[in-house]
Amino acid sequence: MRISKLLFIVLVAGIHISLHAGCSHNSAKSGHVAEIHISHAGPVSKHGQLKVQGVHLVDKNDQPVVLRGVSFGWSTAHGQFYNEQAVGFLVSDWKCAVVRPAIGVEPKRGYIDNPELHTQLAINVIDAAIKNDVYVVIDWHSHNIRLPEAVEFFKKMATQYGKYPNIIYEIFNEPVYQSWEEVKQYSETVIQAIREIDENNIILIGSPHWDQDVHIAADSPITGYTNLMYTFHFYAATHKEELRKRADYALSKGLPLFVSECGGMEASGDGPLDMDSWNSWLDWMEENKLSWVCYSFSSKNETCSMIKDDFVNPKGPWSDSDLKEWGRVVREALREKHK
Ligand code: CA
Repeated sequence: MRISKLLFIVLVAGIHISLHAGCSHNSAKSGHVAEIHISHAGPVSKHGQLKVQGVHLVDKNDQPVVLRGVSFGWSTAHGQFYNEQAVGFLVSDWKCAVVRPAIGVEPKRGYIDNPELHTQLAINVIDAAIKNDVYVVIDWHSHNIRLPEAVEFFKKMATQYGKYPNIIYEIFNEPVYQSWEEVKQYSETVIQAIREIDENNIILIGSPHWDQDVHIAADSPITGYTNLMYTFHFYAATHKEELRKRADYALSKGLPLFVSECGGMEASGDGPLDMDSWNSWLDWMEENKLSWVCYSFSSKNETCSMIKDDFVNPKGPWSDSDLKEWGRVVREALREKHK
């Protein structure tokens, strides 16, 4: 999300998942064994290990799969929502098939200042996602290249969670001023670090100008690895047909896209919703079988933050009156698509 961005310019062995009523359970003996039980069967039991075929995300049976869900807001500002009950409600009531913890890297008290806190916030959402049998995009929510920290974080995530089909790595939320060559070089290093540990889970790659320059990435994609996709972000009141054409071009060149953030308002995250434009985008994503994640599940006083205000219980459950208009629109769209 642009404005915020400019402003803040267990070793795991023997993991197994069993279909079993129960709760997250760490037998915490000497960093060994993390075992998370699924509370009920959901999208991950159905679709399993994902992969990329052509421009499509496909499931264990090679059938195209569209993941739809919501992104949390910056972990630096909205960490109270990074809890198991919130994820559970977003799955049971909102019908999310994917959630996205947005791990704030550079703002004050972010990952750089306090890696333990933000790693734990990520773990809260990831463990809850595994328990609820949904996919989870682990988002490195940065606007700048922070290579050593990103490598450290994703090696940890891949070591702890690489065996779970639930996991999708998003290694650079939104580059802003970096060239594609710089983003590409950074991405290749992080991808290599992940692939040394986890050979197959999906990795999402950013592109310059808030993930809008997918046409540039399409002309010079990263090669030598499988299961890579490229993030594409839009905000419907600002971005319209012209930006869709870029994405159409990228798809025509064979670049797999994943919409890891989108909104119906202006690119600032504020201003009125443009429902006509939002519906055009929604139709376009569905026609192209693109996965989409709406931004954001947070309580800031702005149009894109789905929760009404800071007085709403961050653990839910939430009624319509706890949500802003955007939250109601997204919940309805998810429930409609996942009937
Ligand atoms: Ca894996």
